[in-house]
Parts: sequence; structure tokens; C-alpha cells
Amino acid sequence: MLPEPVLAKVQSELLEFGDARASVMEISHRGAAFGEIAAQAEADLRALLDIGDEYAVLFLQGGATAQFSQLAMNLSAANQSADYLITGSWGKKAMAEASNWCQTRCVASAEADGFRGVPDPSQWDLDPDAAYLHITPNETIVGVALDGVPRTAEVPVVADMSSCILSEPLDVSRFGLIYAGAQKNIGPAGMAIVIVQRALLGHKPRPLPGYFDYRVQDAAGSMFNTPPTFAWYVAGEVFKWLVECGGVQEMKSRNRAKAALLYACIDASAFYANPVDKPFRSMMNIPFTLADSTLDQAFLSQATEAGLLGLKGHRLVGGMRASIYNAMPLQGVQALTDFMRDFEQRQA
Ligand SMILES: *Cc1c(COP(=O)(O)O)cnc(C)c1O
Repeated sequence: MLPEPVLAKVQSELLEFGDARASVMEISHRGAAFGEIAAQAEADLRALLDIGDEYAVLFLQGGATAQFSQLAMNLSAANQSADYLITGSWGKKAMAEASNWCQTRCVASAEADGFRGVPDPSQWDLDPDAAYLHITPNETIVGVALDGVPRTAEVPVVADMSSCILSEPLDVSRFGLIYAGAQKNIGPAGMAIVIVQRALLGHKPRPLPGYFDYRVQDAAGSMFNTPPTFAWYVAGEVFKWLVECGGVQEMKSRNRAKAALLYACIDASAFYANPVDKPFRSMMNIPFTLADSTLDQAFLSQATEAGLLGLKGHRLVGGMRASIYNAMPLQGVQALTDFMRDFEQRQA
């Protein structure tokens, strides 16, 4: 979901951006008008997350999946090993992709437990010589969130924040690299944002095509080639909206209230269930099941009729999932919980 004021602004500028006499999609990425859009978006993101100059901020094509490989290419050599903490299906995929570029080790996995939580840090098998430790702070499909950033002495922490970036304040200095596909909390699909400590890019572990080399992209202002201009522009409008709303601190309190409302509704009833251990429940993605799964189809079709869209669970896990990203208002979650109580009563 994108904020409605952003969609309305984009619509109003669609045919002609400012006095450019053309749409954002029709102007050169090297021209002054797009240059301003790009610089403002980066400045707003830096301000929202308090990102210092020692970090590069890159706007790249290819989504989060491309980053699974690109980060491994840039941060590891073939004879090095990288650590992966597996708390859901995205971390598993990230590790599988990286294994084309370096050795990978699973530090701990919650898979045998059905991804219901996060293995206790005392049981993590960390390699002090790893090129990096990869984590997925919010696992979008299973709805599992880490409660904090792992403390590792020398190993840089790399985080896939596709489904939680900008949902709450973030201490960027705790990370070597943060990346996020745009389409969940930032803007339209087709772009990933990478925030990487420049000190990590000092040496080149292998020859890389210019496009995939973070240093090259940093030096080129993410314009080694034509960047995803429209996605970058809409992301910039989302950042402006976030600033106007009061920033990530305000988002955190809104998101907490939304998630609390939905979990309370689920927990109050034997008709609905969420399988995740309470300390690790996601604020952004809330999967739930019906006690009688033969009612799933009726639930989904009646929800759609009631204007509640996109509730079908991911094909890997089935059931239902409410993704309540920044742009989802509290009223949206209220409408869902009202519907859920009503649906349950009608089955009695
Ligand atoms: C959606 C998602 C991805 C994949 O994003 P693409 O843009 O489709 O490549 C990766 N990681 C997480 C945590 C996600 O939520």
C-alpha cells in the first residue's frame, strides 16, 4: 500500500512534472529536474534514518533478490565464508544465492521449529572470521521479527530490511550494509535501496561488472546507467510524506498500535491463530489461520467484498496474512478486526 496523498500528488504531476513540460518518465536522468528529485530523495532518506556520510546510499534496479547476490559479490572473496542467521524463507533464499559467490554457513536456523521464532543467541555458531553476518530483521512471509541487532565484535552485520525499513527508528551505525526492495515500505517495485558503509568497499574481492560494483555506483551517484527514475521519484514522495507525518518515531507508534490491535483480535478468539512466539511477532506482516481451514476461501472472498484486499497468505505457507506497512492507516486494521469478529459470529 502507498500513502494516498502520495498517489494523488504523483497523479497530479503525471502529465507534466513542475515546469519540465514532460512527465518524470520522459525527462533525462542527467537533467537538472531529475537531479533535484534524486538529491532530495537521498537527503530525506538520510535525514529520516540519520545516515552519516560514511555510508553510501544507492538506488539500484533489481529488487532485493538481486542484492542477495550483489552484496556477496562486493563483500566477500571466493575463499571467504559468510554467516547467515535463518529465521524465515527470505534468509534461506539469500543464503542460497550468496553461495554462488562465497562459502556460506548457517549460524542457526528456526526452520525445524516451523519458523515460529528466533533461535537463542547462546546457540548461534558464529564465525569470527566471516566476511559478514546476514540477518533478516523482519521475515515477511512467516511474520517473524528479530528483537534487536546481534552484537558481533568484528564481523559486519548485513540486513535485508525489505519489509521493515522506515517502520521504526534504526541505528544505522550498527550495520555494515542495509538493503531493501522498494515495493513494501518505500514505493513501486523495480528498485532496491542499499545503505553501505564506504569503508567496507575499500578492496575489490573479485573483478565485477561496473553495474554490480557498489563503489562504481557510489562514485556515479547510482547513475552508472539509467536508474529506475519513476520508482526513485515516487520513493522521494514517500520520504516527504514520512517527514511530514513526523518521521520514523511517529511511524513506530502508529505501527505498534496497528499490530497490537490485530494481535489482540487474533489472541482473543479460538477461531483465529498466529503461530509466532510472542517476543518475535512482526509489526508489519501478521499471518493468521482459521481453526477450520475449509472456511479460508469464504473468509477471503467475503473480505474482498468488504473492501479488505490482499489478505491471502503467501503460497509457501497458506492461510491469511495482513501486511500492515507504514501507509496502512489504523482505520484499515480496525475494519479488518471488525470484519474478523463479524465473520466468526456468522459461523456460529
Ligand atoms: C519481498 C522480499 C524480498 C524479495 O524482493 P524482490 O524485490 O521480489 O526481489 C526479499 N527479502 C524480503 C525480506 C522480502 O520481504
